[in-house]
Amino acid sequence: MNIAAPLTPLDMDAVESIASNDLTALVRKIDDERIYPEEIVRAFGAAGTYGTHIGGINGNTDLTNAIATMARASEVCLSTGFCMWCQDTLAWYLASSDNDFLKTNILPKVAKGEILGGTGMSNPMKAMAEIEPMRLKGTRVEGGYKVKGMLPWVSNLIEDGYFGMMFHVDVEGSDTPKRVMAIAHASVEKGIKLKLDHEFVAMGGTATCNAQIRDYFVSDDYILGDPAGDYIQRIRPGFTLLQCGMAAGIIKNCIDLMKQVDTPLGHINEYLEKQPEDIEAEYNALLADVLEMAKTPYDLSDEFYLRVLKARLAGGELAMEAAHWAQLHCGARGYVTHGAAQRRLREAYFVGIVTPATKHLRKMIAELEA
Ligand SMILES: Cc1cc2nc3c(=O)[nH]c(=O)nc-3n(C[C@H](O)[C@H](O)[C@H](O)COP(=O)(O)OP(=O)(O)OC[C@H]3O[C@@H](n4cnc5c(N)ncnc54)[C@H](O)[C@@H]3O)c2cc1C
Repeated sequence: MNIAAPLTPLDMDAVESIASNDLTALVRKIDDERIYPEEIVRAFGAAGTYGTHIGGINGNTDLTNAIATMARASEVCLSTGFCMWCQDTLAWYLASSDNDFLKTNILPKVAKGEILGGTGMSNPMKAMAEIEPMRLKGTRVEGGYKVKGMLPWVSNLIEDGYFGMMFHVDVEGSDTPKRVMAIAHASVEKGIKLKLDHEFVAMGGTATCNAQIRDYFVSDDYILGDPAGDYIQRIRPGFTLLQCGMAAGIIKNCIDLMKQVDTPLGHINEYLEKQPEDIEAEYNALLADVLEMAKTPYDLSDEFYLRVLKARLAGGELAMEAAHWAQLHCGARGYVTHGAAQRRLREAYFVGIVTPATKHLRKMIAELEA
């Protein structure tokens, strides 16, 4: 099946209204009480945000609107922006596969926010980069695989949700295991137990779960890539580029926060080394690069991937820098418990540590440039 046209047309007015009304009203609660904004995540889906980038490898696929809408939410709340990335990435996995069963039965519901879910791919990405061992192991059985292991963090995940995962399968006569990528259904009856993890300084509203997987049966219908090599090559630029939506949103809001205190504090803030215009110039250049790449997410060349990795690295670093300067510009009014600047500072570091983290990006860039 080739879904060239979005399943739900994108309603930008609705996106704007959800971000500036519903999400703005809830953001403190999301941060303080670690509430998962499920209704908002679903409402963005009903407005069409998760269905704009799912044309597939043979379609006219463009990530621009997925990045733009994620950025709009991240301007207000990074927990929500990250949940949107999780949902967009799940849709991306499905749309990029050759699996007609998943494209017909699961993708339309993910695109509309009717099925929620995300991705448990941090560990496999680190395993593929030889940073840590693969946590999930599969064994071939009749009609699929039995999988076991534990993923410490999978976000935007509630019981009955879905997520992308990868596992190793031993190959007879070889020391190198096979990598298989599949979609899992988070169902306790089927062998996946979720435990909410709230022990973070920010991002508590992301429904981040520890997923314990015990003899979970993955039917062949749910396989994305077996072996997964070519499929990973196909999805990796889009996976990484989409994350720039989170960076763009938080950077833009930090620039706005600096500008907002210009009237009362400009006479003293002018002595700070970085002004909002400095960050804005870097932001505009980065955004232009990201949006140009968003038009060709299935470019499989190493040159393109390297450019994506560099933009993603720059996005994370600029997000952390912008939040730092927003805190200094806002001073004490940003440092109170409900101050936006201190929340942005805590959130911005997430862009720097979520996989691929700053150090992981630097390793991949060094290897591609070697
Ligand atoms: C809020 C949040 C949401 C996330 N959502 C997802 C998601 O949806 N999907 C996903 O796949 N990943 C998710 N992650 C994981 C994330 O992508 C990174 O993998 C993680 O932040 C660590 O990345 P790192 O490269 O900096 O590794 P490092 O932190 O340098 O190292 C990671 C390793 O350290 C170990 N470790 C972690 N915590 C501790 C601890 N408290 N004490 C001792 N050892 C520890 C673990 O073995 C882990 O493998 C999430 C993380 C956070 C904080």
